Amino acid sequence: MLYSLAARDLHNLPKAPVEAYYWFVDQGDLHRGGVVDDVQAGRLHAVLDVVVGGIRDGIYPANPGEEKHHPRETWSSCAYCPYDRVCPSTRLEQWSGMREDPAVQPYAGIADPQDAEPTTDEEVRA
Ligand code: SF4
Repeated sequence: MLYSLAARDLHNLPKAPVEAYYWFVDQGDLHRGGVVDDVQAGRLHAVLDVVVGGIRDGIYPANPGEEKHHPRETWSSCAYCPYDRVCPSTRLEQWSGMREDPAVQPYAGIADPQDAEPTTDEEVRA
């Protein structure tokens, strides 16, 4: 989708219809995607504003994500991070406090929204 916005900008056609797809190359002809509508483009702009603004302002909160049990006991953001063994075991508690900081709230609202509706059966049961 990011490329679709770039293509519109490059050709100075901000309202041009654009389609975007993921291609699962190891599954033959399987594609997922479609027309990029204004809602999706607006959401991408909003997320980019938060991410780029955070980088510009030097906001790099450590957000471990959800607990994860495979390939080992850790968190989803940490499973393949080289600092997993040295990062504090209280990282989730630290994130819970840090997310309330006004400078971090825009990122937290996107990466870890607290008022999100459950989307899976496991989340509903939790
Ligand atoms: S191990 Fe620490 S630095 Fe690495 S992703 Fe997890 S919280 Fe971030």
